[in-house]
Amino acid sequence: MPTRRADLMARLAEDRVYDLAVVGGGATGLGVALDAAARGLSAVLLESHDFAKGTSSRATKLVHGGVRYLAQGNISLVREALHERTTLLRNAPHLAQPLAFVVPSYRWWEAPFYGIGLTLYDLLAGKAGLGKTRFLGSAATAKALPTVRMEGLRGAVQYWDGQFNDARLALALARTAATRGALLVNYCAVTGLLYEGGKISGLQAQDALTGQHYRVRARCVVNAAGVWVDSLRAMDSEAHSAGGGRAIQPMVAPSQGVHIVVDRSFLDSDTALMVPKTSDGRVLFAVPWLGKVILGTTDTPRHDLAREPQAFAEEVDFILRESARYLRKAPTRADIKSIWVGLRPLVKPQDDDGESTKALSREHQVIVSRSGLVTVTGGKWTTYRAMAEDVLEKCADKGLLTQRPAGQTEHLRLVGAETPAGMAQVSISKAEGAHSYGCETPLLDELPGADVWLAPGLSEAMVRFAARHEYAVTVEDMLARRSRMLFLDASLAAQLAPRVSEILLEETGLDPQETAFAQLAAHYLQVP
Ligand SMILES: Cc1cc2nc3c(=O)[nH]c(=O)nc-3n(C[C@H](O)[C@H](O)[C@H](O)COP(=O)(O)OP(=O)(O)OC[C@H]3O[C@@H](n4cnc5c(N)ncnc54)[C@H](O)[C@@H]3O)c2cc1C
Repeated sequence: MPTRRADLMARLAEDRVYDLAVVGGGATGLGVALDAAARGLSAVLLESHDFAKGTSSRATKLVHGGVRYLAQGNISLVREALHERTTLLRNAPHLAQPLAFVVPSYRWWEAPFYGIGLTLYDLLAGKAGLGKTRFLGSAATAKALPTVRMEGLRGAVQYWDGQFNDARLALALARTAATRGALLVNYCAVTGLLYEGGKISGLQAQDALTGQHYRVRARCVVNAAGVWVDSLRAMDSEAHSAGGGRAIQPMVAPSQGVHIVVDRSFLDSDTALMVPKTSDGRVLFAVPWLGKVILGTTDTPRHDLAREPQAFAEEVDFILRESARYLRKAPTRADIKSIWVGLRPLVKPQDDDGESTKALSREHQVIVSRSGLVTVTGGKWTTYRAMAEDVLEKCADKGLLTQRPAGQTEHLRLVGAETPAGMAQVSISKAEGAHSYGCETPLLDELPGADVWLAPGLSEAMVRFAARHEYAVTVEDMLARRSRMLFLDASLAAQLAPRVSEILLEETGLDPQETAFAQLAAHYLQVP
C-alpha cells in the first residue's frame, strides 16, 4: 500500500468519527490499532515521531517467555508470553525465528540448577516448545559457542526461545493494520484531548513536518504512549477537572536498558549466550543479530524521559566486564560499533520508591479514567498481541465501543509473512537483507536501484520501497528502523546518509533531515 504523506494527511483532515483513536506508534499502540482494524472497527493511530522510535526499536530482540520471570515465580506471565511467542513466530516468520541459547556453567551446581528451571520452562511451553532443553558437555559447549572461555568450563544447558527484528515488526503491524483500513500517521503528535459532556470525544494533533493542526474525533481514545503515558494522563486529569484536578499518581516507573553492539567475531556463532546471574545478580545476553552481536542489557531507574537517553559509564563497564568473564576475546570500548538505550515502561506499584526496577513486574496494566481515556502500559514486545486484545475487551466492557466483534489476530499473518517459493529462509542472526521483506522481496526487484548496493544487504531499491510503502520520511527512519544500520554500525550508517538522503528527497520531496542524522549517529558512537 502506498504511504504518500499528502494522502495520509488528507485522510486525517476528513470530517468523520472513528471507533478508536490510538496515541503512540510503538508495539503497544500498533498492536491495538491492528487488533481494532482486524475486528472491522475504524481506527486511527497518531505517532509523534516515527513508528517504533521509542522503546520498541531498542529491545534485546528476544521473543521470549522470560526465563527471568520464571525465576521470579511469575508463572502466568511466562505462560502467556510462551503462547504469544509461538503466535508471533507463526504470523511473522520473516521477522521472528527460533534461536538456541546456551548457559555455560563453571560451577558444579549450575548446569543441574538451571537445567531444572529450563525444563520447567519447556513444560510450561508444552506444545508451543521450540526445542528441548538439553545438557551439553564442555566440547559440545565449545562447538555451540566457539569463543566461550574454556578455563574451568564444566558444560552448559541449551534451551530455545525466539529472536526478532523489532522495528521492522512494528512496521509490519502498521502496514497490516493499514491494509485493514486503519489510518496510521507518523510525525503527528497528540497535543490535546477533546471532550463532549465530560467524556473524551477525540484528539487534537499537530503535524510535526508542517505545523498544521488537526482535530480527530473518536468514540474511544487509547493512550499507548509508552514511558510517556503519564503526560497524557495528566493532560486528561487537568482538562477533565477544568484545571482543579488532583495531580495524577504516575503509572510508569521507567527503567533504562543499554545495549552494546560488537562484531560477530566476538561470539562467532548463531547461538546466543545467556548468563542467568551476573556477579551482581542480573541477566546478561550475547545475541547474534543481523550479522553482529548485541551485548546487554542493564536495568537502571531513570527519572527523565529523554528521547535518546545516554548510557551511564557504569552500565558500559558492567556489560564489558561481565562479557569478558564469559568470552575468550574480551570486547573493549574501542570495539563498540553502536550503543543504544531504551526505556522500559514498567508499571509502578503505588508504594514504589523508584530506586530499584529490577524486581518490578513486566505485566501490563489497562486503566480507564473518569473521562474514558484508556491507558495501557507495561508488558513486553512479545506480548503486544495479548495486550491489544485486553485493551479492546476493556474498551467494550466500559461501553466505549458500539459493537463487540471478536478478536481476529491470533492467526492473522502480517504483511510479508509468506516466504516466496524457491526462496530459502535466512536466519535473522545472520545478516541484513532482502529476507526481511518476506514475500514482498520480488517488489524490490521492480524498483530502480535493485542491484545498486549501498552496503551489504542494503540496496537503493530498499530506500525507495521505504519511502513509497513504509512511511519513511527521514534518513533516520531509513537507517535506524527500515534498515537497522544505525543500531549495527553507526559509523557506516553515517557514511551512507548522504546517498540515502538524496534518494528520499527524490521520492518524497520532504526534508530528509540529514544533518540531524549525522548528530544522532555520533551519539550512537559516543561511549561514556
Ligand atoms: C532495554 C530493553 C530491552 C527489552 N527487550 C525486550 C525483549 O527482548 N523482548 C521483549 O519482548 N520485550 C523487550 N523489551 C520491552 C519492549 O521493548 C517494550 O515493552 C515495548 O517496546 C513497549 O512498547 P510501547 O509501545 O508501550 O512503547 P514505545 O515503543 O515507547 O511507544 C510509545 C510511542 O508513543 C509515542 N508518543 C508519546 N507521546 C505521544 C504523543 N503525545 N502523541 C503521539 N505519540 C506519542 C512515542 O513517540 C513512542 O513511539 C525491552 C525493553 C527495553 C527498554
